[in-house]
Order: sequence, then C-alpha cells, then structure tokens
Amino acid sequence: MKYALVLVNIKGLGVKTFSYLIGDDIKDVIQIGQAVLVPFGRQGLINAFVVGFSDYISGDFKVKKINKILDETPLFSIKYLKLLEWVANYYCTDFVTVLNAALPMKLIEKNAKVELSVEPIVNNTEDSRITKRQKEILTILKERGKSSLIEFEEIAKTSRATMKKLAELGFVKIQEEYIYRNPLSIFKDTVTEPLFELQGEQITAYEGIKSKLKSQNPILLHGVTASGKTEVYFKLIKDVIDSGKNVLFLAPEIALASQLTKRLAKKFGIKDVAIWHSSISDGEKYDVWQRLYKNEIRILAGARSAVFAPLQNIGLIIIDEEHEGAYKQTNPAPRYDARVVAKRLAQFHQAPLLLGSATPDVSTYYYASNNNNLFEMHKRYNDAPFAKPQVINMQEHGKAAYRNIISKPLQTEISETLERGQQVILLMNRRGYSTYTQCKACGTVIECPDCSIPMIWHSSIKQLKCHYCNKEMSFPEFCPQCGSDALSTSGVGTQKIEVLIKELFPDAQVARIDSDILMKKNAHIELLAKFQKGEIDILVGTQMIAKGLDNPNVTLVGVLSADSGFNVPDYRASERGFQLLTQVAGRAGRGDFKGKVLFQTYNPDYYAFQNAKTQNYKKFFETEIKSREEFDYPPFSQIIRLILSSENNYRAEKSAMEIALRLNTMTEKFGFSEYLETLGPTPCVIEKLNGFYRFQILIKNKLSQKGHDFITKFLNKITIPKDIRMAVDVDPLDIL
Ligand SMILES: [Zn+2]
Ligand SMILES: [Zn+2]
Repeated sequence: MKYALVLVNIKGLGVKTFSYLIGDDIKDVIQIGQAVLVPFGRQGLINAFVVGFSDYISGDFKVKKINKILDETPLFSIKYLKLLEWVANYYCTDFVTVLNAALPMKLIEKNAKVELSVEPIVNNTEDSRITKRQKEILTILKERGKSSLIEFEEIAKTSRATMKKLAELGFVKIQEEYIYRNPLSIFKDTVTEPLFELQGEQITAYEGIKSKLKSQNPILLHGVTASGKTEVYFKLIKDVIDSGKNVLFLAPEIALASQLTKRLAKKFGIKDVAIWHSSISDGEKYDVWQRLYKNEIRILAGARSAVFAPLQNIGLIIIDEEHEGAYKQTNPAPRYDARVVAKRLAQFHQAPLLLGSATPDVSTYYYASNNNNLFEMHKRYNDAPFAKPQVINMQEHGKAAYRNIISKPLQTEISETLERGQQVILLMNRRGYSTYTQCKACGTVIECPDCSIPMIWHSSIKQLKCHYCNKEMSFPEFCPQCGSDALSTSGVGTQKIEVLIKELFPDAQVARIDSDILMKKNAHIELLAKFQKGEIDILVGTQMIAKGLDNPNVTLVGVLSADSGFNVPDYRASERGFQLLTQVAGRAGRGDFKGKVLFQTYNPDYYAFQNAKTQNYKKFFETEIKSREEFDYPPFSQIIRLILSSENNYRAEKSAMEIALRLNTMTEKFGFSEYLETLGPTPCVIEKLNGFYRFQILIKNKLSQKGHDFITKFLNKITIPKDIRMAVDVDPLDIL
C-alpha cells in the first residue's frame, strides 16, 4: 500500500481524514490504529491516527509523507473501525463523526508524552570494544530491562554520550516511545469481599441466563425493583472472568456507574476493574484506553460512551436499567443508542448481551419473549413486601387539597410518616415554580422568543426561564399582546411544591432535587448523602429521585401529579409514564418498614396508570403492544426522524416538503410505498428551538434492514441548501 489515510484533529477544522505517503522506512511496520506524526501546513508536525490504506488517491495534488510512527502498539484494531463504520451507517452519519465521538483524540494530543527508552540487545558483555565501566552499565540495564533513558542515566550515573556510544556499537537500542502514566486507582485499600449467595428466583434466573450465553439475541432479565438483579449479574461476571474473558457493564448515568464500579472493585479487586464515562479526567481516560487495548482490564464499567472503549476479549455485556433514555445520545450526532451498538459489539465478540430492568423497554420485552430469552423475577429480595400504591382521585379531593395541590390524605400520610421518624419522597415531574405565565385578559401565554414553549417562573431567581435554551427574562409588567396587567402564573413545579410543603410542615427538614440543583457542582451528591443520613425529612424532586435511591428509611412516596407524564404527544408517553411511576414506587419500603405509595391523579382510569398502580408490567405490556401494532409503532416498525430547521420559517418548511416529496416518489418507484410510510412534514411539537424553526418528517420503516438501507442511500444522495440544517435521528427517543 502506498498511502495511509490518517485522522487528525485540527483547531477550527475539527476531526478530518487526510492521505499521506508511506515511506520505505515504515512500510513494513505501519498498522491501523497507530499514532503517527505528520506534517500539516503551518502547524508543522502534528499527531494523527492511521485509519486506512490505499494504493491510489483521487485528485491531483502533492501528498506529503508520514514523518514517523509514534508508537508501534496500535490504539485500536480493524475490527474496532468496522464497528464504528457500522454505527455511522446505521445512524446515517459519517464515519469521522462517529470516530470523533468514540476515540479520545484530544487525549492523545494532551497526554501522550514521547520519551526516549533504552533496552539491552546483546547478551554478551565480554566484548573487547567496551570498557569495564560500560560493562557495568550494561549489567545494570540487563537487570532493569527496558527503561526510560533519562531515568536510567540517573540510576546508572552515566551520560547521554556514553549511552549513544553503546547504541552505536549495537549493545543497546534507544528509541522514542510513548510514556504512559498510571494514575488509575479509583478506590484505594479495597478489600475483596465474597459474592452474595443467590436465593429463590435469583438462582432460576441465573441458571436460565447461563443456558442462553451462546444466544445471538439480547437476553432480558426483568426483575421487579429490589429483586436483587445485581447479585445475578455479579455471579455471571464471576463465571465469565473465571473462563478467561472480559466483561463490559453499562449503567445509565455517571453517578450510577461510579456506584457500580465501587461495588465491582469490592468484589473483584481494584486491579481488574476500570471505569469509563465522559467525566473521568483526560489522564485517566488515556491510561484506561491503553490498559484496555493491552487486555489488562477484566471488567469495564461505565456510562453510554463506554460502549466505544476498546475492551478486548469480551465474554459478556451487561446493560442495567436498559429502559433509560440516557443510553441514547440525542445531540449532537452520532445519535447512537448504546444498546444498539452493544448488540453489534456482542455479535463481533460472539458474546451474549444481557439487558436488565424492572420496567423494560416495550420493544426489548417483545423481542426477548419472542426469542425465548426472557427471564423474570417477580419477588423482592428476601420476600420484602411491595408498597401497594393507593390512588387519590383529585376530581374528588382536589377542592379540599392545600392550594388545590396537596390532598388531605397525602397530608395525613406525611404527618404520620414524620411522627414515626421516617422519610418521605415527593415526586413532581416539573421543575420551576409554575409551569406557565398567562394573561387573564386575552389568554396569551408568555413563550420563549426562540423556542415557542412557555417560559417558566423560577421564584428562587425571580426570573422567567426557558427550559430548552435557558434564556431568562424578568416578569413582564404588561401583556405583550393586549397590554393588560393581568399576568399571572399557573401550573405547579418542584419549587412551588417545596414552598407549600414548608408551609404545611414548618418543623420538617425539606429539600428539593432537580436539574436546577444539578447545575451546582456536587450539590446533588451532597443532598443525597444528607437524605441518606436522615438529615432531610422530605425530599421533593423530579424524575431524578426515582432512580437508584436505596434508602431503607423511606416509607412514603407521594406522586403529586401522576398523570403529567402521560399527557405528552409522543407514542412512548404511556411507556415513560408507567416506567417513572413504577420506579418511584419502588423507592418506598426497601428496608424493614412497610412502605406506602400515593398517586394523586385526575385520570384514575387510564390503563398505563392502572397498571403502574398494581405494578403489573405484563398487563401494561399487553395493552401497550396492541396499540403499537395497530399504529405501526416500534417494535412493529423502525422510526427514522428527519428534522429540517432554519432561521427562516418558510425555507425550513419548503425544504422539508421537497424532501418528503422526493422520498415519496422514490418509494413509489421501487414499490415500497406500503412498507415505508412517510408522515409529514409537520411543524415539530417544539416548533422553534434556539431561534430555528423546525419541521419534521417521520418515516416508519416496516422493511427492517432493507428499508433502512434504502433510506440511508436516499439520504446520502440528497443535498441540503446551506441555510438549512438536517438532523437524522434513527430510533428517536421521542418525537417532540
Ligand atoms: Zn393579554
Ligand atoms: Zn428558549
């Protein structure tokens, strides 16, 4: 091969690929995945990665030569590039975008230090050409083996000149090499603990999964909240690492991944466990990458992006809380779903993919049960009882409720729980104080000028705030439409709940947790720690409090507006609402005390709500899957969403219409109309975002791979005017 395709990261240009000539000096050793040094314009020599080879290049220009190979050990393999290529293709984006998301390019520039190393190459030191002193030096080097040259010179008390002389004579080899630091010791002094003994349903699930480890299809472990899924995972991990293979373990969030890593390190030892997510330091990331590639890590735990870390010799991939939206990257591209990438990765390694959840994604459950890969645990660990949710019909209780929001029965339960010295969680799935500001004279709702959604009053900062673009403005004195001064806030958010609860229970310690709090670094962790220690009696929060909280002293969970999650114009609204309510209900009564769960709702008969109340996933699934089938939603189709946006409303709509028209013409021409349904263009539910008008086209693909390929090809062919942006989202999380 004459040319190498290399990847560079240029300031202002971003990550790009270029062709370089391969010199004779390196043609026998150059490999994909190696870091090389290349000349780049006025910037001189810069770092690059080899990603491909070719015998010719298109275009007529002078190609420069690769200066040298920085490290002969590659950082990734061809197999790895193949995976990224597949991701690019599946998500209709280009390869470089995926590479950019997957590879820690910046790390190489910042962290790799080239240093000189020295190693002995001749064993016989009884050579007449060298002095006695030089012999001594060689003996020391032989004892130490390959060393950093600078360090060695210090230890052997010798000079660069002497070392160079020895190299010239052929006794030692001096070469440039990357020096890796090794700061990774996440949890010091951790003593290894034995694994838990499995019991009852755990044993059945474990044995069932064991029998499926050769399966090419994902395996689902559906276990109710607190059923002890983690112990089952750990037992499987033990088996896999005992067999000599490695394990990738994903959690939906950084905080959960850190908790998980801690537990893994306790069970399997620090040395073999590493963590990978977007917030670990560059130095750590760089070192973990090196250790992964060299197969020095047995268990890698991490969040979404860990699916791209180059763990070798994978024998099992586990994705816990697989229903969580956090596994999907929504912006920027690549809009990948770690579960989809993991499935592919598992196939590459011929390893099983195990998904776990108390409230699985409807599609996951559908496929797993069809493939006979479904394992269920219906009981809580140690047979702890479920807290059975009780419904408070706000049509009856609303009027008597405190400020129409906190019902009498809920107030009673809160007082009783506090009297017993136990703790309360209150879920309100909207942050802010109110949810909208409206003119009572003409009905106008104050919207964000850039995003076409209502601005939300935040009493703590005395500002109206847009929850999409974070724009803030002060409360207007007069209605911008009619000039009346009758503007007032309506609706309820977490801040208002916090205020009302403090009014009702002035002696209780009340705290609030939502993404406004999350903005302050560590505030979230500190609050949770305080809550865990019992220093907070009542915790008010958004969906965040539904996840991972395992506090045995929580015996009351109240959901203030249980139907709010269901009233979103999205085909997954019921699923999301059901998941949220079931998860939050699972926070109550995890210890020795019996828990209570109260749902306040204006819509007590809704099916998803009824099933959340009885915690009956199966029943929810059966109703939900029927409606998915009826309307051709996933898993009965694949959805591909195109969003065309522009600062000019008309231009955005026009280009969206043109694309939809062309797509329809093409599908008709190929006889696919029946299987590739194009909906729209329609204005997005959020019509304007950050100043851009948005139109969407939804494609329902009922032809699986064939349809997907057809659409990919179509999208690759069309050209979009410069003032229009097109985002392609394959399997979107929502269609808002
Ligand atoms: Zn008005
Ligand atoms: Zn906005």
